[in-house]
Amino acid sequence: MSSDWAREMAKLLRSGATMLSYNCPECGSPLFRLKSGEIWCARCQKRVIILREGEDEAAVVQRELLWENLERAILRKLSSLSNLLSGEEEPERIREIAESISTLLASLQRLRRLKK
Ligand SMILES: [Zn+2]
Repeated sequence: MSSDWAREMAKLLRSGATMLSYNCPECGSPLFRLKSGEIWCARCQKRVIILREGEDEAAVVQRELLWENLERAILRKLSSLSNLLSGEEEPERIREIAESISTLLASLQRLRRLKK
């Protein structure tokens, strides 16, 4: 274990990353999950994609892209609903907008849990 690598691991842990129970497929060193949810190899200095059984890399990348697009779409909608809400005076409309916001927030939360 080089000292650079040890330093890098210490830095990751300090930043809130957690060490995982599986190892990098390329170098065999323990992998970390960053706070952003990405899996990172401190020795290879790169992102690692963990494959689920029976899944190929393209499918994983596609799934991650889908999650990212969905998340972006939800955030965009939340932002336009928030604009709508601040300009709305009609109680019934306010209720509808608030309901949509709460549905989107729940979806966002579920999505973020799926991504982990
Ligand atoms: Zn590695």
